[in-house]
Amino acid sequence: MAKTRPLPKLDEPDSSEFWLATTGKELKFQRCESCGTTIWYPRPHCTGCLDGTLAWHTSSGLGTLYSYSVVRQSYHPFFRNLVPYAVAYVDVDEGFRMLTNVVGVADPTSELVIGQRLQLVWEEHEGLNIPLFEPAS
Ligand SMILES: [Zn+2]
Repeated sequence: MAKTRPLPKLDEPDSSEFWLATTGKELKFQRCESCGTTIWYPRPHCTGCLDGTLAWHTSSGLGTLYSYSVVRQSYHPFFRNLVPYAVAYVDVDEGFRMLTNVVGVADPTSELVIGQRLQLVWEEHEGLNIPLFEPAS
């Protein structure tokens, strides 16, 4: 069996549209058309007014590193081959903060800086892609 990242179920009603969009490498998020609240992660109701109609939007894929931690040891068959790697909160420009990995650096213990600009990059899988970030070029 291939050593792969644990992948989400694609038939969850709240997140299925999000994962479907990743096949086209689009990072989708929701915004309430009634009160303007940006909603992350995908869900069926507005977290601002608890009512309202949610609409899907596509992120530009740019953001800022809010915080991160470097994982130095893992026993998982996929993740143990990646250490050391950065688990990070990224403030995406459209106004939501997502948990992800920052990749594209040789040494995350010394090459990441809080506040640095990041850009979206996709880890490809069959049937979906995983949104990750790397330092902006
Ligand atoms: Zn609302």
